[in-house]
Amino acid sequence: MTALPAPADHDPAPAVAGLDTIVSLAKRRGFVFPSSEIYGGINAVWDYGPLGVELKNNVKRAWWRAMVQERDDIVGLDAGILMHPEVWVTSGHVESFTDPMVECANDKRRFRLDELPGTEELTETEKRDPGIVEKLGLKCPVDGGPLSPPRRFNLMFRTYMGPVEEEAAAIYLRPETAQGSYVNFKNVRETSRKKLPFGIAQIGKSFRNEISPGNFVFRMREFEQMEMQYFVRSEDAARIFDEWLPRRWEWYLRYGANQERMRFREHAPDELAHYAKKAIDIEYRFPFGWKELEGIHNRGDWDLSRHQAASGENLEYFDAATNGSFVPWIVETAGGPDRCAFMFLIDSYREEEVKGERRVSLALHPELAPYKVAVLPLLKKRPEIVEMCQRIVSDLRRDVMTVYDDTASIGKLYRRQDEIGTPWCVTVDVDSLEDGAVTVRDRDSMTQERISADQVKRFVLDRLATARGG
Ligand code: ATP
Repeated sequence: MTALPAPADHDPAPAVAGLDTIVSLAKRRGFVFPSSEIYGGINAVWDYGPLGVELKNNVKRAWWRAMVQERDDIVGLDAGILMHPEVWVTSGHVESFTDPMVECANDKRRFRLDELPGTEELTETEKRDPGIVEKLGLKCPVDGGPLSPPRRFNLMFRTYMGPVEEEAAAIYLRPETAQGSYVNFKNVRETSRKKLPFGIAQIGKSFRNEISPGNFVFRMREFEQMEMQYFVRSEDAARIFDEWLPRRWEWYLRYGANQERMRFREHAPDELAHYAKKAIDIEYRFPFGWKELEGIHNRGDWDLSRHQAASGENLEYFDAATNGSFVPWIVETAGGPDRCAFMFLIDSYREEEVKGERRVSLALHPELAPYKVAVLPLLKKRPEIVEMCQRIVSDLRRDVMTVYDDTASIGKLYRRQDEIGTPWCVTVDVDSLEDGAVTVRDRDSMTQERISADQVKRFVLDRLATARGG
């Protein structure tokens, strides 16, 4: 494992200057749409279109491969979104999963205190100070009205289970996937026969009633998480925590992220969540600043001890070697496919001038690209050419996402594929009918090579394997 990179002391330029470029590309090409748009949209929920769902699925697959498939010590789980309400009391979420909120006396708008201009440097202790609004002279950013002192706002969505809307039936939409892994610790350990250290990985929806959602899919009220809980002996926790930092960092590099725009940031003691002993974020330089991409947390024995005490179930691990039992500690890696796919969209965005024309491309890693190949006819009026295209498409489709397009001139078709990150375009022309060869064009270098049509699938699969590093 390589050493941790030195913390970036510079502020690199973001990959795109403004978010609008990405938001409009995402909408125009079918990556992400505002939810319920025909009704005017709903704040902080976004829908993934045909290309977005491919990109996000590819991110999830890449994470699952690295975290579960390629490892012997981590297994998967898919727990329910709805859980026993006691889980959230025990976990501390009912009590303290809160953000500091202020309200404008004029228009009653509510804001997250630490997202108001002028609060960037506030410590967690200062955020809890009832006099902080007055001390900093904070005003409503919309109409300049007076703001209330901060109060804690719980981010969990609450609803009722069953046909009676009464307090006893109150239940929460989970705000994190992690608790599903803790309450299943015993089930998973017993059925998978894993010995410490071992982990449980989950990908799934979580919900948070964020006070100030925004920045497109960066902060939503409904989103997905990719979280892994690694159960360890207490004496190994610090070392294992340190090992996960470069491992997770390298995962982003493996899929093409530019490390100039990444950094580690350790949480200050008063910033640590109620459960955490230590927390380090991998941050990315988004167009709107340095923001968390993923958090790595040493949670101590807080979770399993609390669940053991509250449920009465023995969650200790019996160590045959020492003949002793103990509650394992947990090292967690917590990220999310929405934020991650968003980062890759931004990071891969390229704009250049080619022969006097503006070319936009997404230099996405081939594993992440929604389509791997586009098959394009040079002349759509020639049925033999279209037929040859269709043969190549149906052969490729068995293995990789492939698209056929004949709705524009070849130059335009290339640009369209560049803009959605398709790594290879295969063009069938008149000569192909004679020599059985086609042109393969590379998205990034724009170089073209002529290969036999029967070799196209081999060509693509080989390049995918090389890109994956296998
Ligand atoms: P933040 O400080 O940005 O609110 P957090 O520290 O609350 O994030 P965690 O609880 O560590 O976030 O969540 C783990 C991961 O889940 C985050 O790294 C992010 O990828 C994802 N995530 C959390 N909240 C949201 C959200 N509102 N929208 C999209 N993704 C989210």
